[in-house]
Amino acid sequence: MKERTLAIIKPDAVKKHVIGDIIRRYEEAGIPPIALKMMTLSKDQAEGFYAVHNARPFFQDLTTYMASGPVVVLALEGENAIKVNRDLMGATDPKKAETGTIRAAHGASIEANAVHGSDASETAQVEIAFFFPELKS
Ligand code: ADP
Ligand code: MG
Repeated sequence: MKERTLAIIKPDAVKKHVIGDIIRRYEEAGIPPIALKMMTLSKDQAEGFYAVHNARPFFQDLTTYMASGPVVVLALEGENAIKVNRDLMGATDPKKAETGTIRAAHGASIEANAVHGSDASETAQVEIAFFFPELKS
């Protein structure tokens, strides 16, 4: 099934100059971007985006980190885009991510782990609408 997912190239990956490598991986996996923008999140935007995690102990660190520099936000589209992207990303902790995944290649730590990807179709819809309200399905 053709579907959409939201990805974010996080500040650590932008600083490492691997935007191009990461977008190439999306394209080669059949989930090219249909919308993208580079921006620096405010702390408020980062907290809004990660609101589901607001009770987690790392919430303040995570949202400070996500607002620490430019990110690239992308809506990706393709067959099974949500799972295809999660498989491309690898495990949350780059040390546990499978060889060949984006996080294994580029993640610096469990927090600065190079990319975000939606985890289910409901969250994908909410997350795409958060950054791309103009995108209609
Ligand atoms: P994922 O991004 O793999 O879906 P989660 O949704 O569980 O992972 O967590 C969201 C983000 O919060 C992670 O990508 C990572 O940046 C950060 N994070 C998760 N767990 C931790 C942790 N134990 N310590 C610090 N940051 C974390
Ligand atoms: Mg998640």
